[in-house]
Amino acid sequence: MSVKAQITELLATLPQGVTLVAVSKFHPVEALREAYDAGQRIFGESRPQELVAKVAQLPADIEWHMIGHLQTNKVKMIAPFVSLIHSVDSERLVAEIDRQAAKHERVIDVLFEVHLAEDESKSGWNKEELLTFISSGALENYPNVRVRGLMTIGTLTDDIELNKAEFRTLRALFENLREGFGEAFDTVSMGMTSDYWEAIECGSTMVRIGSKIFGERDYSK
Ligand SMILES: *Cc1c(COP(=O)(O)O)cnc(C)c1O
Repeated sequence: MSVKAQITELLATLPQGVTLVAVSKFHPVEALREAYDAGQRIFGESRPQELVAKVAQLPADIEWHMIGHLQTNKVKMIAPFVSLIHSVDSERLVAEIDRQAAKHERVIDVLFEVHLAEDESKSGWNKEELLTFISSGALENYPNVRVRGLMTIGTLTDDIELNKAEFRTLRALFENLREGFGEAFDTVSMGMTSDYWEAIECGSTMVRIGSKIFGERDYSK
């Protein structure tokens, strides 16, 4: 199926209340333009340099999401325009996003990436760390950061039941934190090409879909 057909089908079939992030990392701007022409306005990228290069070549009404691990020294590259950072995994990163957002007189929306997978990957807070950080009140020191919700990447596995358990855990954590954050806390980012339907069943409000739309990524580029 073409990029256009995939976008059209996804936009028609995703339930109301589920936002589609088209994950376009490693794909050329022509592919993004095809998705844009089919009506897609939210794109997710994982590398700041690539993101900045694409912004310059595509229409201004696109919302750019940073979904990949973000080093603090790269925040300044994306701070002028990024609309949501999904991958906030430390207080150091929160502090730097706040600093750069203030420079541009912006408030930047973020999600806390939670690490639920039973693998060695280092990205993301574990649940207890995140709860401790939030209840410490430290976020008050970062007025230019607005927390919109949570994100997780499911374990890379064929065991879809394991992924569903992770997704349910993230949704439950979101429910627990919701009261404390108030109305702007409205986003549960989970589900990719292989598991987005299960993620939606478990309460996802934002799916990040790449290869289903754009095909395989060419990592040599
Ligand atoms: C690449 C990536 C995706 C998209 O993965 P697909 O399997 O191609 O849909 C989603 N989320 C994150 C964080 C990614 O890095």
